[in-house]
Formats: sequence, structure tokens, C-alpha cells
Amino acid sequence: SWITGLLALPAADQEVFAAEMERTFIAIKPDGVQRGAEDCLELGFKLVGIKVVVPSKDFAQKHYHDLKERPFFNGSCDFLSSGPVIAMVWEGEGVIRYGRKLIGATDRQKSEHGTIRGDLAVVVGRNIIHGSNGPVTAKDEINLWFKPQELVSYTTNAEKWIYG
Ligand code: ADP
Repeated sequence: SWITGLLALPAADQEVFAAEMERTFIAIKPDGVQRGAEDCLELGFKLVGIKVVVPSKDFAQKHYHDLKERPFFNGSCDFLSSGPVIAMVWEGEGVIRYGRKLIGATDRQKSEHGTIRGDLAVVVGRNIIHGSNGPVTAKDEINLWFKPQELVSYTTNAEKWIYG
């Protein structure tokens, strides 16, 4: 799939990502769910939490609280609470920045081909998928969307080959 292609980029084209084990919050937004963007699930990291939710407007406002002063804040909250969202927590070294790279720029016209938004989104307000933009937001968003007991810890058989 397109995502496998992205993961197979020549090493020279790949950025160096943090060598720290971290978690990020990724959500397929209502447009991504309605359009059947199941490929978004194949991020190539360890999935430690997943659920389908229809966020309330109040919840969406909490999620987007950083954007309170922006003109599109209300529209973004209305949209996020308009239908089912697939909420996920992914874990791995450098997963926060890697997730952002796979997702692509906020505005799809600035997203590169081969990114989720670059390939699937049409307008900025309907950009398919969300991903935490840094370690602090990742922590806040994971805490907002998931209770600790909804996240699992496990070791995959592949990990010793991935991390050595
Ligand atoms: P990102 O989702 O890439 O982290 P932001 O946090 O800046 O981007 O914005 C959050 C969401 O608000 C975006 O994903 C998009 O859906 C919406 N948004 C951002 N900028 C605009 C804009 N200029 N017009 C309409 N919606 C916007």
C-alpha cells in the first residue's frame, strides 16, 4: 500500500527520529472514517490503544483548546464531533514525529504525495487524520482520550529485530 511505500523510503531520504520510546495520539477524523481510510491504521508502530468514539462538542473543544483564538476553532470542533472518530495510541521510538511525517502537513496543498493528507485530503478543514505535534501534546491528548486502563503494554515478537 502507499504507506508501505513510504516506510521503504531510501535511508538517505529519511529524517533521524528521536531514539526514545514514546507514545503519540493519532485519530482518524470523521471524514477519514466515512471515506473508509482504513489504510491509516497501518502506521508500522505498536498499537497500544484503540476505540471508536463520537466526541461531544465539549470534548472536541478540550481536544482543540490550543486553537481557541483561531477563526476556525468552532468549525473544527463542530466537525470533530460530527461523527465517529477512530482514536488510537501508537508506541515506538520517534513515533511522534514519524506519525506527523506520515500524516503530512495540516494543509493538504502543502502535504507531500505519499502522505495520508497529501493523498486523501482535499481541503484543510477536512484533513482525514490527527496526530500529536510533540511530546507535551501527545501526553495531554492521550490522557484526554484514554483512561490508563484502556492502554495495554505488551512485547511483540518483532521487537527484538526492530530495536535490537
Ligand atoms: P494539525 O492538525 O496539523 O496539528 P493545527 O493544530 O494547526 O494542525 O489545526 C488543527 C485542525 O484545525 C487541522 O487539522 C484542521 O482540521 C483545522 N484547521 C487548521 N487550519 C485551518 C484553516 N486555516 N482553516 C480551516 N481549518 C483549519
